[in-house]
This record gives sequence, C-alpha cells and structure tokens, in this order.
Amino acid sequence: MIIVFDSAATKQQIDNVEDYVTALGLGVHKSAGSEYTILGVIGDLGHISDTRQLLIMPGVKEVIPVSTPYKLASRQMNQADTLVKIGDVSVGGDKVVVIAGPCAVESEQQILRSAEIVKGSGAVILRGGAFKPRTSPYTFQGLGEEGLKCLAKAREATGLPVVSEVTSPEYLDLMVEYCDALQVGARNMQNFELLKRVGQTGMPVLLKRGMSATIEDWLMAAEYVLSEGNPNVILCERGIRTFETLTRNTLDLSAVPVLKELTHLPIIIDPSHATGMRDKVIPLARAAIACGADGIMVEVHPKPETALSDGPQSLYPDQFEKLMREIQAICPIVGRQLDMNLTISRMPTHSPDARQVAFQGVPGAFSARAVRQFFGEEAEPLPRDTFGEVFETLEAGDTVFAVVPLENSNGGSVHEVYDLLLQHEEIKICGEIRLRINQTLIGHAGATIDGIKRVYSHPQGLAQCHRYLRSHPDWEQLPTLDTAGAVALVKDRGLAHESAIASYESAEIYGMEVLAESIEDQSSNYTRFAVIGKGWGAVENPDKVSLVYATHDRPGALLSTLQDFAEHNVNMSKLESRPVLGNPLEHMFYVDLEVDPSSEDFARLMEKLGSKTLLVRDLGHYRKASHRIDE
Ligand code: PEP
Ligand code: MN
Repeated sequence: MIIVFDSAATKQQIDNVEDYVTALGLGVHKSAGSEYTILGVIGDLGHISDTRQLLIMPGVKEVIPVSTPYKLASRQMNQADTLVKIGDVSVGGDKVVVIAGPCAVESEQQILRSAEIVKGSGAVILRGGAFKPRTSPYTFQGLGEEGLKCLAKAREATGLPVVSEVTSPEYLDLMVEYCDALQVGARNMQNFELLKRVGQTGMPVLLKRGMSATIEDWLMAAEYVLSEGNPNVILCERGIRTFETLTRNTLDLSAVPVLKELTHLPIIIDPSHATGMRDKVIPLARAAIACGADGIMVEVHPKPETALSDGPQSLYPDQFEKLMREIQAICPIVGRQLDMNLTISRMPTHSPDARQVAFQGVPGAFSARAVRQFFGEEAEPLPRDTFGEVFETLEAGDTVFAVVPLENSNGGSVHEVYDLLLQHEEIKICGEIRLRINQTLIGHAGATIDGIKRVYSHPQGLAQCHRYLRSHPDWEQLPTLDTAGAVALVKDRGLAHESAIASYESAEIYGMEVLAESIEDQSSNYTRFAVIGKGWGAVENPDKVSLVYATHDRPGALLSTLQDFAEHNVNMSKLESRPVLGNPLEHMFYVDLEVDPSSEDFARLMEKLGSKTLLVRDLGHYRKASHRIDE
C-alpha cells in the first residue's frame, strides 16, 4: 500500500501517520519527492482492517492499494526514475552508460590492459569477475581476492569504477573493500540470503535476471535488496532460457519497455551472455540502446582467443571501439547521450555552485537539455536572457561552463554566438554535443487540436514545423524569443485556443499538455551545441579544433589554406564564410578540423595558416560529439 501526502502536509502530520502504521507492526519506506511525500507500507496488510482510517488522517491525500507483490521497486512508489551512482557515474539518467571489460580477471596485466582499452573507447565502468560461477567445477574459477586487488589497481590506473560479481555472502567483506558496485549473477538472482546481505551493504547492486526468472520474479529479487534500505539497484537483462538453441540464451529486449512502466529502477542490457557469440553481441547492443535501455554491459578482452572464460563472446578491442561509435550515433535519435569518459563532462561534486551551467533561455529550452545531457543530472542549468549575458556570466566567473547552440541542421549557424566567441578572446569551446530536436505542440489541459487558433514559438521552431503548420492554415503564428518561453506565455495568458511549439519537457515544467508530438518536418533535425568556458580547461584527448580566419582579398587565398589541410591529411567538418563586421567586403572563414591539436601536423598547419592570413583565432579544442558510422 502507498500513502501519498498533500503537498502542504506538515512533518508532524507525516510522522503521525508513520507512527500509526509502525504501531500496527508494519514497515514503512518514506520517499520525499520535490512535490509529494510518499510512504510505502510493507508487511502483512491484513493488519489494516479499514484503509479509510488512514485516509481521514490529517495530511493524507490518497491511499493507493498496490496490486503488485513488489512495492518499493514499483513505479507507483517512485514516479521519477532512480539514479544509481557507481563512483561518479550516474546510471538511469539522460546519459547512456557503457560497462565493459573481460569476463574474468586473469592477471594484473590483462585487467590493466583491458581497462585502458575500454576507457580509451569511452566505457565509464570496468567489469571483471574475480569469483566466477562456472557451470563446470573443472574450469577456471577466478583469481579470488588476488583478482579483486588487480581490479583495484586498474581503477587506480584509469579512474574507472569497478563492478564484480559476488557469489557468496562469505566474500562480501572483501568485495565491499575493493569494488564500487556488486554484481549478483543470474545463477544467484534468487539466493535470498545473498540478496539480503548485499542489500545491507548499501552498495550499488547490479542485479542480473535469472535465466528462468519472470520479470515479476526479478522485481521481487530487487525488492529483497530495496527492503534492506538499499535503494541502489540496477536491473540487468542477460538473456533467458527458451527452446532456441542457436544462441546461448534469448535476449528479452521487451523487458526494457515493460520494466520502464513497472519500475523506477534503471535497466541495462548484457548482450554478451545473452548471445554467447561476439558477432551477435554488436547488433543486440545497438538494439538495446534503441529500445531505451539505460546502458549496456559488454565483455571485451585484449586477446579473446586466449581468454580463460567466455572468449567466444568477448569483443576484440577494435570491435568495441566501432560499437561505441555506433552507439554514440544512436543515442541522440532516442533523445539521449552516450556518457563518454571525458573529464570535463563530470560535474565537480564538492561545491554546489560549480554545478551551475549557464544557458540562454528559460527552463524547458533545448539548451537546458543539452546542459543536462552533457554534464549529467547533477548539473543545474542557469538561465540567462541573452547570449551576451551568458558570455558575461562566464567572464565574471559566476559559472565555469556554459552551453550555447552553434548550428542547426535545418537553420544553419547561430551567428550571434560565433560573433561573441570572437569578441571574448578568453572564452573557448571545450566540448560539443548534438541533440535531436523533436518539436511538440503544447496547449492547456483539456484543449484539443480542433480548438486551436493561435500558435507561439521561436521563428526557428515555427520554421521547423512548416509542413505541420501548413495543414492548419487558419492558425495564427506568432514569434517569441524562445520556444520554452512560448509555453510559459501561453500558460500565463490562460486561453484555451492558444498553443506553443517547444520541447516535450517544457509541457511538464509549465504543467501543460502535449497535443501533438514529433511535428518537425525533418526527422533528422539536429542542433550542435558548444560547451564553453574561460581559458583552455583540461580536455583529455581532444580530436577536434574550431578556427576562424580572414584571408587576404586575392585570388586563390582561401584555396591555398584548404590545400594545406588536405596536405596534412586533416579532415574539415565545417567551412562557412561570414562578412567581417563593419567591413562587408572582407570575409572570415569558420572552420572545424578533425585533428589532434597536440600533433606536429597541427602545429605546422597553424604556422602556415598564420603566414598566409590576416588573422587566425583558435576557438577551442575538444572531443567531437559523434563519429560517422562509416568511419
Ligand atoms: C558475468 O557477467 O560474468 C556472468 C557470469 O553473467 P551471468 O550471471 O549473467 O551469467
Ligand atoms: Mn562471462
């Protein structure tokens, strides 16, 4: 049973209800959300003869009988998705997380090498078994404590948090000492004593689905951990036994959308144990991201043919690298981002102020989503009215970072931002992120499309939905300063026939209703945002550079610079010309180059560019947001 309190309920009123329930011998689990406090009642509900007794207590808004046997794991208990932190990585938010590493730790050298490889391709958590639950007692059983020590060394060397499987309560103390998260394997999913003990540690738990477990069995297993007061459970689907024999198991991807409805817990997919063959791991890993999983766990080995366990399903390092690029491209299509191992994308946790990231617009803006998707859920988007104010916020040191749009695939470059980058010499691009832009028609609760007469949005928002708006020729279109601001405006005016075009989250933020989804003309509508900060920052392994330069006004001047790029084998991903401010006959060129800025090639290129141009400005060095799949 779940008791929901009025948003105005006092602490005393909540305590009274809690006391009443516990006096009946029942357990309670309190969840204080931003709006409502919820009390989950656990135990034999036969003790409460009449639920009206609860309903009449001051402060109680609703008493919901829960029909599912699991309670703490249920979505009714917790509407918002649970975020589970492993080290400083959050699982279950907008960022898709990749856990990778070998099946088993085989030696210090093997796990160190594996950690470097998976980190280099962008994995954020390292896996590796030290206690291996093998079907045969005659096969490699793992290195035990020695293996855990090796894992801890790999963490020290790479900074990656580590997850490893606990096969028995007897190893728990050791596991807690060396690991950042505990895996409960498929074979132990219903080892209830182990689940209770794992729950008592309070550590993040990666709970694999048993090979013959139903989704309900699995959620009940999660309930064992949760009911010990440990909320940090991640579910991991790894394939179930079916009549099919051509794969090791059958991967139940439908578990992802089913669980998203039933539970608030994050869910990840292990395509390695599901298929048992490396060539099948890759397509299923892609599918896992496409169907909404919060992450994947994949086995990767520096030399799979020598692996002591699960070699045939372990990816070669280059296969893993390619898979990561593919996933990175898929994530924005489903509205998410791949959590890559980029130092600047981790928010400093020591000071709350440092978590603020400036953007232009109001809450619900696409830029605010870009902040969250780059920096994670801990980041606090800090709204500013204009781009100029965003730059001033950085100059004044009020925030360390800001996120600004650079270009849209339909609308082209945001020139004002480029102009500001030129004016503010110390502000540099230190990251980029690409978001798919989905437009939504938003109106008042109860409004219908037939009743709409007026629509507000930023001119870009209106332009991106040209075809949709053409099918409603009688609607009056009114431009606003930003998309989310249009929703706030419609809300304020309170007229049922008015609507706005904006992001889906702005409907939620302003308490409005989505009337139509995905109304943009182009399904491939993307905006590229830059993460900017004062100074050069510390971007690890940058592979992209943005420059602006002005050439002499003579034939072949631009061509000669482009030839230099070609000669140094540097790929150019953007070239755009802009008239020089105040001198419309001269042109500046904005160029993005895919190059390692610490390379000799780049140094020589910059020298050459300097000698043949009127001005060169380096706008920043960063990691490119996504790779093309054909690379
Ligand atoms: C593992 O991840 O190493 C493992 C043994 O997986 P499962 O429990 O899913 O078989
Ligand atoms: Mn394995």
